[in-house]
Amino acid sequence: MPAMNAVTDLMQDDIYILWNDIVESIKQEYLSEEQSYPWILGFSGGKDSTVVAHALFEALLSLPPSKRKREVHIVSNDTLVESPLVVAHLERSQDALRNAAQSWSLPITVATTRPPVDKTFWTLLIGKGYPSPNQTMRWCTDRLKIGPTSQYILDRVSALGAAIILLGVRSDESESRRNNINKWKNLHESNLQPHPELTGAFIYRPIVSLTTEDVWEVLGTFAPPWGGSHNGLIQLYRDAEGGECPVVLSKAEAPGCGTASSRFGCWTCTVVEKDKSLQGFVDSGNHEYKPLIEFRDWLKQIRNNPEYRSVERRNGLVTFDVSGKHIPGPFTIQARQMILEKLFETQKAFGGSPLISKEEIDLIKSTWAQELAKKGQ
Ligand code: SF4
Repeated sequence: MPAMNAVTDLMQDDIYILWNDIVESIKQEYLSEEQSYPWILGFSGGKDSTVVAHALFEALLSLPPSKRKREVHIVSNDTLVESPLVVAHLERSQDALRNAAQSWSLPITVATTRPPVDKTFWTLLIGKGYPSPNQTMRWCTDRLKIGPTSQYILDRVSALGAAIILLGVRSDESESRRNNINKWKNLHESNLQPHPELTGAFIYRPIVSLTTEDVWEVLGTFAPPWGGSHNGLIQLYRDAEGGECPVVLSKAEAPGCGTASSRFGCWTCTVVEKDKSLQGFVDSGNHEYKPLIEFRDWLKQIRNNPEYRSVERRNGLVTFDVSGKHIPGPFTIQARQMILEKLFETQKAFGGSPLISKEEIDLIKSTWAQELAKKGQ
């Protein structure tokens, strides 16, 4: 089959050329502009940010040590309610990146941001009674994702004057994203776009032109410079049957979090109809995740049961919408106690890593006590 082989060879050449272009453009960008401004890569451990990390390592390794002046931060966010399988994959990747950066003396810091204990999913839902998030009341993305990573970026901006955020977004991902990127490119020569909400931060999208097929081809063709292969990641996608919850760094991007296509989100996500990623893991043999799916479904289902919701809001007011319909308040203390009990039962059935921390449980109980004392109960 000589003709077929020739086509395959041509396709392989294409991916080598494409990959060299990406690595070379990252290298040029790294050397350009003000080099005291750090680079911050938003790393979810998913396919796109892994490709950026891979290209970034290649670019830095191709430079002599004297030219590696700019510091690079590879930052992941842990909402503390991430899918356990995804967390395990992310931690393995972070360890590999950290070890490789250290052994080659690359100016790379690998870090994880997390919400503070008073703003975690459990502290707000079980402690303060916030109703399980849904499309209209999605209080979680800002507190669990945007806030912690934004703070990390702003700290670098205030220490060094500006920071450049590398994102693995691509223009074939969505129409609105493509329009946004094209609009900016038509107006400006620079690869850097000011962040819409974080003053002093700029966005750089090194793989914006890659298609989804290109991304898979890169992952399947090139072994990561930190050792091993990308097979674990490819398998994770196969098992989860699809997409990932993206790195979310602004309110404009928040709608991408907790949608039908974002399957690597929080295991507790009640914004999606069905948790397809956990279901995918169960279907591919990981039956230990079944109790988590059942808990999530139950949490979604009890949300609008008036029996579990206070009549008044947290500020003590009874409110109605424009049509005169009563807007229920937070979960009652009894409902919150029931949710915590159910979470403990789920933990027992699951048996894996802790689903809630002792710090959160302590804060939840002191929040209840304060609320009851205020009501004189
Ligand atoms: S994945 Fe769901 S629960 Fe988690 S932050 Fe996004 S919308 Fe909220």
